[in-house]
This record gives sequence, C-alpha cells and structure tokens, in this order.
Amino acid sequence: MEFELWYLIVVPVLFVAGWWFRGLDQRQREKEHEPATYYKGINLLLNDQPDKAIDAFIEVVRLDPETIELHHALGNLFSRRGEFDRAVRIHNHLLNREDLPEHERSLALFELGNDYLKAGIYDRAEDSFQRLLKEPEYHLDALRALLKIYCTEKEWEKAIDVANTLEKQAGENHQVEMGHFHCELAALAMRAKQYDQAREALQKALQVDRHSVRALIMLGNLAMLNNDPQTALLHWSKVETVSPDYLPLVMVPMAQAYEASGQHEQAMNLVHRALEDHSSVETLSIALDLIVKSEGEQAAQKFLKEELVRHPTLWTYEKLAELRLKDHPQDSELQLLISLLKPYVSRPGRYRCSHCGFKAKGFQWLCPGCSSWGSYSPKREEES
Ligand SMILES: [Zn+2]
Repeated sequence: MEFELWYLIVVPVLFVAGWWFRGLDQRQREKEHEPATYYKGINLLLNDQPDKAIDAFIEVVRLDPETIELHHALGNLFSRRGEFDRAVRIHNHLLNREDLPEHERSLALFELGNDYLKAGIYDRAEDSFQRLLKEPEYHLDALRALLKIYCTEKEWEKAIDVANTLEKQAGENHQVEMGHFHCELAALAMRAKQYDQAREALQKALQVDRHSVRALIMLGNLAMLNNDPQTALLHWSKVETVSPDYLPLVMVPMAQAYEASGQHEQAMNLVHRALEDHSSVETLSIALDLIVKSEGEQAAQKFLKEELVRHPTLWTYEKLAELRLKDHPQDSELQLLISLLKPYVSRPGRYRCSHCGFKAKGFQWLCPGCSSWGSYSPKREEES
C-alpha cells in the first residue's frame, strides 16, 4: 500500500513538473513521441510494475537527454526506499550513456557508488569511488566514502592512507580515528604473536593521537605478555593521567600487576583512589574482590559498611547481607532480604554509546550502532 502511495504523490509531480518546465518550443517539437512514453512509465509505476516503468523511462532519456534530472530523482527515490537493484539500473544506464555530458555521468557514478555502499556491495562501491577520485568535483566526497568502506572492511592500512590524504587535502582532523586504526593493526599483530610489530603500531598510534588511551592500555597488555608488570604499570598509570575516566578499564589488570609484584599497598591505594574519584558499582565490585582476596571477608564487611555510609546503594547493601549470611547461614530473615534485593541488583550495567545510545555488554572502541570511534563511556550505566 505504501508503495502505491509513494509513487502516486511523488513521481507524477516530478515528471509533470519536468515536462512543463521545459521550453515550450521543445515541448511542441517532441510532444508527438514523448508524452506517450512518459504516461506509459507513470502508468506502469502506478500499476506496481516498476521494472517495466524503468524501461519506459530509459526510452524517454534516450529520446530526450534533458530529462536526466528526473532520472536522477527517480534513481534516488529507489535508493532511499532500499530498492537498490532498480537504483543501480537507472544510474548504470546514465553512466553508460556516452552522449551525456561528463558531469552528468560523474554524478551518476557517485550515485551508483552510494547505491552499492548502502546495499553493502563494498567492492563495487570502492571501484566507483576510486574512479571518481580523478574528478575534482567529487574527489573529497569519494575519499570520505572510501574511508567509510575501508573501516567497514577492516582495511586499516588503506584507511590510514585515506585519512591522511583527507587531513592534507580537506583540512579535516582524523587523529582519533587514525589512532584507532593503528591500534586495530596492533591488535591483529598481537593475535599473530608479532609483538614487535604490535609495539611499533601502538607507538604510531600515540604519535598521531598522543591521548590514545587505547594505545596505552594495549602497550600495558603487551608488556604483560612479556611478563613485565613494571613496564605494564608504567603504561597503565599514564591512562589515569591522560584520561582518568578510563581508569575502571585498567583497574583490574593494574591491581593484579601490583599484587603480582608484591605491591599490595599500591593496589589498595589505586582502588581507593578510583573509589574517591569514580565511585561506581563496577569500581566497588573490583575493590570488594581485591579486599576479599587479600584481607579476608571481615575486612570486606568493614569496607562495605564504610561505603554504605559514604554512598548508600542497594548493591552495597546486598553484598554486605551476602557476606553476613556466610557468618550466619541459618538466618532466614537475612536469606529473605537477599532474595528480595537480588532482582534489583543482579543485572550488570551496560556500556552505552554517547552518540547514538547503542548499549553493549562489553566495552567497545567502535560503536556497532553508529560507527563512531571512542564514543563509549568507560563507565557502565549504573544498575537500578
Ligand atoms: Zn553509537
């Protein structure tokens, strides 16, 4: 139903307007041939036969190149409706018409590239935009589209080249993205156990984006793979300096590295610092684990009581009740209290993209919803 309505309103308006705005003389001259083809096309559209309608309209553009704009409009309508095969057919037809002016064919190629991009046919989209690079009018837009394609296809080397070119030619700033591209290359190298290559990529990430928290975190991870907790701690400590909000992401490995090198005091200092600056359920949970492991459950209860005074939450109260139940396993009131509290505190918070609101269980550097880099807050949304 929506299909017929769309064409009923938009297509006749476009074609009739196009027809009437053309010069009177020319209309006189050609009226014997074209109106019949126009109306045939419109009729076919109205009768829900868009493919036959396209044939009719292609015939019109063959007879009268001045109707090109209407074809661009029709192609874009199909593209916006997600009918990419039809959009591609129209744009391909315009592209292959050698009698059309060069700028019209370039526009058709640009639209064709976008059809392929939206349809997810990235190799053809890449080919279209590569061809457009030599057209000054479309050069920068083609580069931007290629950057999108290379990110989607995870072709990080090519993405770095294109981002560099855009910085030079369009004066755009792609430092943060480029930092992530180098980190992606480092991640690939780490998976292949090519640690020197990974370190090199991470140093490049810091060269293009000296605030790259991700590169610092990964350099720490890399040091831990070499059993070097001191170097790892050096890198991770910089996370706190460069961007303290990201501390929760490295708190666990940092505390473990401190514990591994016998620096329990530093581990606890870190946790208390984090609690003072970024008290959250996640930080509390990490602190609680550390205290239980290193100082025992009595110390953990004392810690939770202090936290309840400082910052009362259901989560803290429920954890305290759980620890008390271990001391008094027969206490039925305590059992009831825990079962009542649990549904409200057991759901782990999610990470959320600050651009589009897309939520994820794990922390993401690249938003799966809007493809933004570094848009996730490093703190989970608080549980209810
Ligand atoms: Zn997003």
